[in-house]
Amino acid sequence: MPLRYTLLPLLLPATLVGLLVAMLGTPGAAVPVALITLAGSLMALGLSRGALQRQLDRLARSTRGRAEGSGGSAPDPDRLEEVASLEGAIDTLHTRLSARNTELNQESRTLSAVLDSMAEGIWVTDAEGTVVRHNDALRNILQTGAPIVGQRPLAVLRDDQLHDAVMRGCLEGASTHLELELEGLFPRTLSVRVTPLGRDLPGSAAVFHDVTELRRLEKVRQDFVANVSHELRTPITAIRGYAETLQGGALGDAQVAPRMVEIIHRQSERLSELVEDLLELSRLESQQVSLNLTDVPLAEAAARAADTVRPKAEGKGQVVSLHVPAGLVAVGDPRAVEQVLLNLLDNAVKYTPAGGRVDVDGACEDGRCVVRVRDTGVGIEPRHLSRIFERFYRVDKGRSRDMGGTGLGLSIVKHLLQAMDGEVKVESQPNEGSTFTIFLPQAAPARSATG
Ligand code: ADP
Repeated sequence: MPLRYTLLPLLLPATLVGLLVAMLGTPGAAVPVALITLAGSLMALGLSRGALQRQLDRLARSTRGRAEGSGGSAPDPDRLEEVASLEGAIDTLHTRLSARNTELNQESRTLSAVLDSMAEGIWVTDAEGTVVRHNDALRNILQTGAPIVGQRPLAVLRDDQLHDAVMRGCLEGASTHLELELEGLFPRTLSVRVTPLGRDLPGSAAVFHDVTELRRLEKVRQDFVANVSHELRTPITAIRGYAETLQGGALGDAQVAPRMVEIIHRQSERLSELVEDLLELSRLESQQVSLNLTDVPLAEAAARAADTVRPKAEGKGQVVSLHVPAGLVAVGDPRAVEQVLLNLLDNAVKYTPAGGRVDVDGACEDGRCVVRVRDTGVGIEPRHLSRIFERFYRVDKGRSRDMGGTGLGLSIVKHLLQAMDGEVKVESQPNEGSTFTIFLPQAAPARSATG
C-alpha cells in the first residue's frame, strides 16, 4: 500500500490532538500528547493489519486448497466483514468455474467417444498443419504404430497432395477432396476430405475413409460388364455373319448352307448356355436361390452327372470311372450337388486329351463327405490355381471357347457349395492332370457311410 495512504490517517489525529492540547493552554504537553496519540494509532494499525494479514493468508490457503482439489478450510467465525465478503465472492467464482469445468470435461469426453467410435480416421491440425489430435481408427487406416500427434502430414504419409491440401485448409480456408493410393504389403485406397476448422479456429481437420474394397468392387463390376459384353458379342457376331451370308445367296448352296445353319445353331446354344449360367450365378450371388437341403446319396448324384458327360467322353476315347461308396450321404440340395459334379466332370472331360481318364472317388473324412474328380488332362499352372474360381477367368481363353466353355462353370461350383456349407479345392500339375475336391456336410451317421 502506498505510504501516503498509511501516514496521513496516522499523522492527522496526532496533529489534531497536539493542536487541541496547545489551544487549551498547555502547549508544553502538546508534543508528548501528539506522540502518545501517534503511538496509539500505530499500535492499533499494527494490530489490525496483523489480524487482516492472518485472515488473508488463511483465505489464500483455503482458496489454493480448493483449486488443488483438497477442499478449503472451515470459515473463521471472527473474520472481518471485508474478508468475509471477499471469501463469498471467491466461493461463487469457484462454484461457477467448477460447474463450467465439469461441462467442458463432459463435452471433451463425449467428443472423444464419438471420434473413437467412428470407422473413418480423423486428425485435427493446428494453424501450422501439425497434427494435434486424432481418433483410434486413424491408426488402423494408416496402419502405423508411429506417433501421429506432433507430426506434419508429410512425416505421417509421404504424400505431397495431402500436405498441400492440409496447408490450403490452414492458410486459405479451402476444402479439398483427394484419393490416396498407399503402397506396401496391403495396398489401400483412401478417400480423404480436408476442411478448415472454421473462422474462429485456426487449423484443419482431415477425414480418412478406406475405400479399397469399394474400388475393388467397382473394378470387378466394370470387368464383369466388359466380359459379359465380350462373351455375348462373340456368338452374336457369328450368328449375324452366317445369317447374312445365307441371306446373300448361300441359302441356295446345298453344300455350305447346312454347315452354316449348324454353326448358327451351335452359337445360339452357346448364347443360351451363357445366359443360363449368368442368371444362375446372379441368383446365387444375390442369394435368391432357395436350396432344398436334404440327404443326397453321392454315388447316385455322381452316376447321373457321369451319364450326362459319358457320350462326350466316349467320343474322345476317355474312360470315366466311379468309385463313390453307396452309403456316402451328404446334406445338400440334390439338383445343386448334381450341377457341381456335372460342371467338374464336364471340365475334366473337356480339358483331358483323347484317350485319357477321369476318376471319381468318394469318402468320409473328418466328419465331412469328400468327392474327388481326378483327370489325366492338361493340368493348370500353379499361378492360375487361386483365380480359376473367378467369373470368366480362363487359363487358356482360346481353348476354353473352342471347347464351348463359358468361363463361369467353376464360379457356379464355388457358389453352390458355399450355399450348402461346403467348399471346393483344387490340386494340379501342368500336363499331369487335375484333382478337384468337394467337401459337403455329412448326413446323420445312421444313414451315411463311415468312410
Ligand atoms: P470354362 O467354361 O472355361 O471351362 P470354368 O469356370 O469351368 O470355365 O473353368 C475355368 C478355367 O479353369 C478353364 O477355362 C480352364 O482353364 C481351367 N480348368 C477348369 N477345370 C480344369 C481341368 N479339369 N483341367 C484343366 N483346366 C481346368
